[in-house]
Parts: sequence; structure tokens; C-alpha cells
Amino acid sequence: MIDVSMYTEDELIPISAIQHVLFCERQYALIHLEQVWEENLFTAEGQVLHQRVDAEHHESRKFFRQEYGMAVRSLEWGLTGKCDLVEIWFDESGSVRRVSPVEFKRGREKENDVDRAQLCAQGLCLEEMFGVTVETGQIYYFQEHRRRDVALDESLRKTTTALTERIRKLRDAGCTPAANYEKRKCDRCSLVELCMPKSVGIQNAGSDGKRVTRYIQAQLRAAERLHDEWENDDGQEE
Ligand code: SF4
Repeated sequence: MIDVSMYTEDELIPISAIQHVLFCERQYALIHLEQVWEENLFTAEGQVLHQRVDAEHHESRKFFRQEYGMAVRSLEWGLTGKCDLVEIWFDESGSVRRVSPVEFKRGREKENDVDRAQLCAQGLCLEEMFGVTVETGQIYYFQEHRRRDVALDESLRKTTTALTERIRKLRDAGCTPAANYEKRKCDRCSLVELCMPKSVGIQNAGSDGKRVTRYIQAQLRAAERLHDEWENDDGQEE
């Protein structure tokens, strides 16, 4: 049994890290340990979708309330994040009777547990915050235009907490795993240009060397973008 009662605010793991670590442990380390981030079509679409969801208003009826963009955390499980939507049912005395998270996703249902584990992590946070058992959640896939029920059962909870532990180990180790090029993943990864999974030279560099190399590349790209913006501004003035 893991002693999870010890987590402080500083030790909380972002729920978003679950999807990154399941996709690729190196991607997790680049984003969360090295603070590297690069937009691509998939991430940009996801950001727009979540901004749209966050802009929604709160809806409330007598025994039911919807909260969009709710910040959640669990000190017991060491997790923190934000729910796209939380639906809350009350009994006649005004006490919370049932709570259910809803996650909005841009694509279709995935074969792996990535979306379900993220939803389960939200459920674990809501259980601590509201003092109720969260038995189910829902995922709305925009390409399918419908919500799918997800049971937050024992098996999914084990998967989610195991992933959380894995993230904690990677974070505590503080080093970025080596790249391993896989066409299926790397070709759609937003970090492929900075990660350079096909580059043997970069792979053989030490951890600090890789970090410095990526830092320099990021600075050069930022400088190029700035230069392009200046040139565009000059063009407009003329
Ligand atoms: S490019 Fe490939 S190896 Fe590199 S972070 Fe992305 S998925 Fe992982």
C-alpha cells in the first residue's frame, strides 16, 4: 500500500502528464522536466477546443449544476489539473449526491487508456474534494458527437495510479529518456523537430548536452519568428 497522504502542493503531478507519459516517456520529460513545448495541428486543435469549453458558462438547476473549467486536486493521490466539465447532483437537503467529470476530446475514442486514465485522475481528485465516490465519468468525442460513459472501476484506478507512480519516478530521476524513433508516434508528435529522434549525434550526447542543444534550437527558432514578425511589420508600414 502506497503512503499517499504525504503529498504537498509542490509535489502534485499535473493530470495532463498522464497523456504525455502514455504517448511517450521522452515527450513527458521534454514537456514537464525541460519545459519544451511546440504547437502542431493536433495540439493547436486541442487548445482551441479546450478554450471553447472553458468559455462556457455555468449552468444550474434546482438539484443539478454544471461547472466548466473546474480546477481540481488531490493531496491524497498527489494530482492537480482542470476538468473540462463537472456535473454535480444534489439531494433535497442540498448535500452533494453525485459528481461526474466530463472530458472533451477532439478525435475519436482511442484504443489505449490515455483518455480514460485522465478522466479517472479527475475522478480521484473530485472524490477528495466532494467526499463522495465517483463511479463514472464521460468523454465527449467531437468527431463522434456523443458522450461515452466510462466506469471508474478498480482496474482503471490501478492503471491510473500506476501511471502516476511512473510519472513520479521519472520526475524524481530528473533525466530525459533517450529517443526511440517510431514512425506511428514520432511523425505526429509536436516535439519531433526538437527531439530529433532520427539523429544519432544528438542521441549520443549527454543529458546536459541535449538540453543545451535544444535550448539553443528553441532560441534560434524564437529569433527567426521575431525576425519574420519585424519584417511583416515593416512591410505593413510601407
Ligand atoms: S519525437 Fe518520438 S521519441 Fe521524440 S518525444 Fe515525440 S514521440 Fe517521443
